[in-house]
Amino acid sequence: MIEIKNVSFSYKGFEEEDNEEVLKNIDLTINDNEHTCILGHNGSGKSTLAKLLVGLDFCDKGTILIDNIEINEENVYQIREKIGIVFQNPDNQFIGATVQDDIAFGLENKCVPSEDMQGIIEEYAGKVGMQEFLDKEPTRLSGGQKQRVAIAGILATNPKIMIFDEATSMLDPIGIMEVNNSIEELRKENKTIISITHDVDYALKTDRLIVLDEGAVLFDGKPRDVFKHQDRLVEIGLDIPFALKISNALQNEGLTIKNCLSMKELEEELCQ
Ligand code: ADP
Repeated sequence: MIEIKNVSFSYKGFEEEDNEEVLKNIDLTINDNEHTCILGHNGSGKSTLAKLLVGLDFCDKGTILIDNIEINEENVYQIREKIGIVFQNPDNQFIGATVQDDIAFGLENKCVPSEDMQGIIEEYAGKVGMQEFLDKEPTRLSGGQKQRVAIAGILATNPKIMIFDEATSMLDPIGIMEVNNSIEELRKENKTIISITHDVDYALKTDRLIVLDEGAVLFDGKPRDVFKHQDRLVEIGLDIPFALKISNALQNEGLTIKNCLSMKELEEELCQ
């Protein structure tokens, strides 16, 4: 379980006005096995929150607890055994010369005995469908394949919590599908997943949607309930699901239909 208690944070600049709070009194509890989506305009503080969760920065006010352990500079390596992150740019996450070396790196850090390593590497490369690529150089892979290797590298170290910080935003539609399928598989393994994304249709498939606006939590609830506030979401520059846009357009043309969030719902509504 992740407990974020009254957390505030500002980046330290040279001038006083640079020290503006980018996270303001964030209070959230994220439960085990929950798939949470964090949505928000650029600059709303999503990545900063993710960085605090993995101990790349530390809060100025408040506390963050992972499994009842408060994150601080002393225990950050212990925390990182529980929580892994996949970033936006797949090119910045490789250390190894081959896919195999790259997955091995995390295992070496965890002091996994060398005789166990090969089996673990093959298992996790297999989980993301990359077992055929173990001898390949990461630079020669497609964006989606790179992100899948990054996921395998983190999974091999077996963290309970995984954060995907816009992990599909630089990928083509096939890459997005590949990575989303890998995330879907993780859900079957009782992982706690936090997805930071701009993709509102993806957000609909998660258990919980948190909307950040200017460093504060604006909405927190089931995605269906959050999208009831569609006017406010549009006001702060966010997108709404495609089916909801069509529902709105048809209502504006005088058709009496309910607000639909998925194309399947819209189809059923129109058939009726
Ligand atoms: P998001 O992920 O929602 O786009 P960020 O967490 O990246 O938002 O940014 C929140 C705010 O913090 C923005 O105003 C951004 O300019 C600022 N910021 C982000 N990273 C840094 C940094 N390393 N130094 C100074 N300011 C930063």
